[in-house]
Amino acid sequence: MLEKIVIANRGEIALRILRACRELGIRTVAVHSTADYNLKHVLLADESVCIGPPPSSASYLNMPAIISAAEVTDSVAIHPGYGFLSENADFAERVEKSGFVFVGPKAETIRLMGDKVSAIKVMKEHGVPCVPGSDGPLGPDPDENLRIARDIGYPVIIKASGGGGGRGMRVVHAEAALLNAINITQTEARAAFGNEQVYMEKFLEKPRHIEFQVLADAHGNVVHLGERDCSMQRRHQKVIEEAPAPGITAKQRRMMGDRVVEACRAVGYRSAGTLEFLYQDGEFYFIEMNTRIQVEHPVTELITGIDLVKAQLLIAAGERLPYVQSDIQIRGHAIECRINAEDAKTFMPSPGPIRLWHAPGGPGVRVDSHIYSGYNVPPHYDSLIGKIITHGETRDAAIARMRNALAEMVIEGIKTNVALHQEIFNHAAFQKGGTDIHYLERRLGLR
Ligand code: ADP
Repeated sequence: MLEKIVIANRGEIALRILRACRELGIRTVAVHSTADYNLKHVLLADESVCIGPPPSSASYLNMPAIISAAEVTDSVAIHPGYGFLSENADFAERVEKSGFVFVGPKAETIRLMGDKVSAIKVMKEHGVPCVPGSDGPLGPDPDENLRIARDIGYPVIIKASGGGGGRGMRVVHAEAALLNAINITQTEARAAFGNEQVYMEKFLEKPRHIEFQVLADAHGNVVHLGERDCSMQRRHQKVIEEAPAPGITAKQRRMMGDRVVEACRAVGYRSAGTLEFLYQDGEFYFIEMNTRIQVEHPVTELITGIDLVKAQLLIAAGERLPYVQSDIQIRGHAIECRINAEDAKTFMPSPGPIRLWHAPGGPGVRVDSHIYSGYNVPPHYDSLIGKIITHGETRDAAIARMRNALAEMVIEGIKTNVALHQEIFNHAAFQKGGTDIHYLERRLGLR
């Protein structure tokens, strides 16, 4: 087993990783910025190391500081969590070159999947359905690009190969706007991602966001843990996630699951990973792969009974997956609400001191949060302060438990988006399930 690991993250996911380590008997080192000395996992960790001032660029993104922390504490591995350096292939490479285990895929796999054009290419080669689009990056010939768009049919979307976080994309509704849109997206992509390569896809008007969770060990064993529906989004940020996805049949799950497993095996994938799809009119279209643990991983844990973070740590230690595909059973339904420190109407961030916190509880209620009464939410980072996840035998049962949980919890001192969640749970469309990715913005009057 890994004796001691550095948790290179903050907030709820750092606490989640710490808990998994504790269960496995792994000693923990929390690395944190000066603003985060009082984070719950920092207080609970076996050791802690301050790695820099509050701005992420100087702390949580500071590769030499994190690697030094691993060195001075005699750690053997680094878990990157999500966000920050988790999908940075250069970081993974430096970690391994410095003699530590990176809890994630190989650097080369992160690099392959981090470039959307190369990711789509390998997925296509291995039978994973992709959005109709340009075969690879767009070239300099305007006539050729006009022809590609005409073949695909408008509207199309121009996307940066190196894009991420919902940036570097532009929708084009008519031919007159195409060449200009390509130019602008290229210029923006060069400035934002240092890579001006762009490609073109059919723009799907009313898709759902459905993603498949995979787990792969270093010995070529791969399983999928079914899908999640993350269509409830605002500005490409997921707000509510659930598993399984409403309306997806066991047959569809099996067919798509087989394909994603096959593709992951073919690229030598290792650790936990997620393949994201748009789903429209009964068809799945691959858009990208996330080579890390995701915020919404608990819904999958609750329906499969598999601890994904523990699995990541065991895989990093070289162990084999203790199950095969037929052992993976889906039980009931799980829903997650992301709790953000922000105004429920204006979405303005609301950092500050939490005067009082009462967590919800009861059967089928899980709370993943680092907050406590007296904790001060710093203004420097993402506004996610916790996740409430409920599980029930049916979707309706999970919803009923979530309504209870939201009504029971108390957070005083800062504003949160709890009221938004409560409102969404009252929507008939949400209760029915299967809303598309633009639903929430339409309801909020943002589209
Ligand atoms: P990022 O890496 O920035 O998250 P993605 O490729 O995952 O980029 O796309 C982000 C979001 O943009 C998707 O969840 C979807 O809302 C929208 N999107 C991307 N491609 C398409 C498409 N072909 N048609 C419609 N919407 C799309």
